Amino acid sequence: MSILIRGGRVVTAADGYVADVLVEGERIALIGTDLDVAADRTIDAAGKYVLPGCIDPHTHLDMPFGGTVTVDDFESGQGSAACGGTTCHVDFCIQGQGQTFAQALEGWHAKANGKTLIDYGFHIAITDLADQERLDELATLPEQGITSYKLFMAYKGVLQVDDETLFRAMQVAAASGALVMVHAENGDAIDVLVREALSQGYTEPVWHARTRPPETEGEATNRAIQLARVAGCALYVVHVSCREAVEPIAIAREKGWDVWGETCTQYFFVDYSFLERPNFEGAKYVYTPPPRPKENQDVLWAAVKNDVLSAISTDHCAFLWDGQKTLGRDDFSKIPNGGPGLENRLHMIHEFGVRQGRISLNRMVELLATNPAKLFGLYPRKGTVAVGSDADLVVFDPEKKLTLSASTHHSKADYNLFEGTEVTGTPEIVIRRGEILVENGELVARPGSGRFIPRARVGEELKPGVAVG
Ligand SMILES: [Zn+2]
Repeated sequence: MSILIRGGRVVTAADGYVADVLVEGERIALIGTDLDVAADRTIDAAGKYVLPGCIDPHTHLDMPFGGTVTVDDFESGQGSAACGGTTCHVDFCIQGQGQTFAQALEGWHAKANGKTLIDYGFHIAITDLADQERLDELATLPEQGITSYKLFMAYKGVLQVDDETLFRAMQVAAASGALVMVHAENGDAIDVLVREALSQGYTEPVWHARTRPPETEGEATNRAIQLARVAGCALYVVHVSCREAVEPIAIAREKGWDVWGETCTQYFFVDYSFLERPNFEGAKYVYTPPPRPKENQDVLWAAVKNDVLSAISTDHCAFLWDGQKTLGRDDFSKIPNGGPGLENRLHMIHEFGVRQGRISLNRMVELLATNPAKLFGLYPRKGTVAVGSDADLVVFDPEKKLTLSASTHHSKADYNLFEGTEVTGTPEIVIRRGEILVENGELVARPGSGRFIPRARVGEELKPGVAVG
């Protein structure tokens, strides 16, 4: 099957120009002006952007957490992603206590099997490094294309690891060429604050934020940076939410250390006051780190503009408000932590980043596609529009208006973090490896065609044409 996309404005992290793009099979075959070629399907993209498919480096599909399981599985989550212009994501495979990494990965591959629409990889989330056997196994994971290790410095008694485990994983990563990712919050201090609040009778959702002050994120971010320096590994700090965490990353990057950070869409738009909404509505915004005081939003916009933060993810971890979030109606610490968002990252960053003049169109592509591809071993096979790269493309209509809402989104979540927000600009056609997934904004593909992509190690390229599993 070949597709000719005619006359769109091709936008990459570096360039913007009007051209025709020819897709043959799964790859981009030719880019040029007024191409004189025949194709099975021609798409008129005049007045539209042709963007690389976005890559979400941080999602949680079909994940057991908080006494329940996230509501989006690979089918609904990836369908939702595709409708929002995301054609590849890296999900967290969580190692259960006592499990080998092989067992954990087998479980996650099974969750994805037969349900996938977009391409995907897995980070391994380490919870248990009890013995030498696990350390040895960890060192071999990059050979299977699992080239990032995630550790939680919070969620005490559930996912949190101690500093010894964190440091040992960093040492393994330094040798194996994996990227270390941290959820940076001081889980021990937070645990004390949560127990104090509950003992004083404070149970409302807003206490989720009051017991996780920004300093606990700043402290853990700095600790992880310093330990990574000692171990000699590359570090990526996930979901940076506040000035206290931005500052140590800024210092590290200024010094040229191998440290990167991401933030998530919601931290630009949802602030602390959302948690104070009455009648348990605040529970919709209980995710971690929590929504911060509004002044942090300008700090984050400056950080993504200046490359202090290098990627924007969604941390999509969706729960129903009615039926799952309600597990914590009488105790904020029992509200499952997480929110939906996989579908609306491009909508929101285009509207409030690009259209409102905070970042350029090229920088948006860099933050949502190119940098995630480079940092997580998918580039240049993915993350750009280039001859030989996978034909993961978004034909984006920059003039079409859309109102974001749970009533029209494709996630199973019963609420939308950005409910009622009007945006101008939305994906019209979404193509993944030459297959049209979305047409006129609606899903037209059937599940089962997304592929697991073994990723390259830190600093290495994933060559187009490499066989995939
Ligand atoms: Zn997460």
